[in-house]
Amino acid sequence: MGFLSRLFPFWGKAQSKGKSGYATADGPHGLNIYVQCDKCGEKIAVRLRKTSEIQRREGPDADLGPGQFFVQKTIVGSKCYQRIEATVDFDGRYNVVADTVKHGRLITLKEFNEEDEP
Ligand SMILES: [Zn+2]
Repeated sequence: MGFLSRLFPFWGKAQSKGKSGYATADGPHGLNIYVQCDKCGEKIAVRLRKTSEIQRREGPDADLGPGQFFVQKTIVGSKCYQRIEATVDFDGRYNVVADTVKHGRLITLKEFNEEDEP
């Protein structure tokens, strides 16, 4: 972070490139992300509501992640009781720019749809 990013605090964020394929729109107010459980390998689709669950990174949250929007969610699949703790940052177009997933990992829609065994 240098001189420019201090002058223009959002400059760095505008440069963050979203990763495509990780979040897919679900109607005008919904967004789907996909996670895989570390413990049992279950793939889980998670529907997020833009209106309530996805928050703008502003105020005290602004410096905690690179996105313009973010969501924090605990996900529990149906095959085991492991709680997957996901924090995902999105750019202004709801593309994923960063993710931290405890006890699991973020996968793309393509990975979600792939069969585990050929
Ligand atoms: Zn599991």
